[in-house]
Amino acid sequence: MDLPEFAIEARGLTKTYAATKTTPEMRALKGIDLAIPRGSIFGLLGPNGAGKSTFINILAGLCQKTSGEVSIWDRNIDQRPRDARAAIGVVPQEISADPFFTPKESMEVAAGMYAVPRAERRTDELLAALGLADKAYAYVRQLSGGMKRRLMVAKAMVHNPPVLILDEPTAGVDVELRKQLWNYVLELNRKGVTIVLTTHYLEEAQELCDQIAIINRGEVVVCEPTTTLLRRMDTRMVLVTPEEPLTIAPTLAGFETKLLKAGGFSVTYRTGQSSVEQVLAAVRAAGLHIKDISTEEPDLEDVFVSLTSAAA
Ligand code: ADP
Repeated sequence: MDLPEFAIEARGLTKTYAATKTTPEMRALKGIDLAIPRGSIFGLLGPNGAGKSTFINILAGLCQKTSGEVSIWDRNIDQRPRDARAAIGVVPQEISADPFFTPKESMEVAAGMYAVPRAERRTDELLAALGLADKAYAYVRQLSGGMKRRLMVAKAMVHNPPVLILDEPTAGVDVELRKQLWNYVLELNRKGVTIVLTTHYLEEAQELCDQIAIINRGEVVVCEPTTTLLRRMDTRMVLVTPEEPLTIAPTLAGFETKLLKAGGFSVTYRTGQSSVEQVLAAVRAAGLHIKDISTEEPDLEDVFVSLTSAAA
């Protein structure tokens, strides 16, 4: 069988939540077009209320779309809802662990729900991969928050889906566990699993995702390879340490400057308009002697702020 080019495709996807007595009608998705390439680690970013969870819930079959077309692994969610759902594992945002089951039992129940034959179950392998082997028979209430979250990832993978969706997977997870979780996610990706994640940690998205879509107010603002997205930002910064520490930022013709700790300063310039060369010339022209310089690349945070604040 041919593998699909896109793990997930949405065309003109809309979702309007009907008005209630206390809330007005809400157009949460206003015609989303997204094509998530098979094999990618795809980041879905956006401020609170952008529509990310709504999108994920539609994929997971937990929320009815209003209009548009969605396919998961080339399976249209209207025409082949069961097949489409079998192709994704979803790790929800909230931790929901059954307090009466051990992780092992929890996994078996999840496998049962997906009708995975006993011979094909990989409960122990999954628990081990997520660092939960020694907790297989513990009660869930004895697990830490991080362990519960890893158990949820394991549960989402019981039916071996080609696409794994993680909704804010590392919120509230400490740095060490986050690393562990990412290592497992990266390993799954190396084995061919397409990963879709929403995260508030822009740094994380920047580091992990090869493609990023930014959603704002129910619309896709941008969808690009991470490197292209970062290149969009044409501001650069030069950090200058002068021979003599300064107490106020110097005035440089044509450049914005800011005083830094320890008597240094930063100079901001636009790549289209000037160069490091010109910045240094301006610093020297101001009578300053340079002890050291470094440059700073823009990060996703800058891109994100500039793309989502424009419409605010
Ligand atoms: P995000 O996950 O990006 O924070 P959501 O998809 O949760 O965004 O929400 C998008 C918009 O839809 C928000 O304005 C939210 O208040 C609204 N919304 C989400 N779920 C519901 C619901 N069940 N009923 C009514 N409005 C909702």
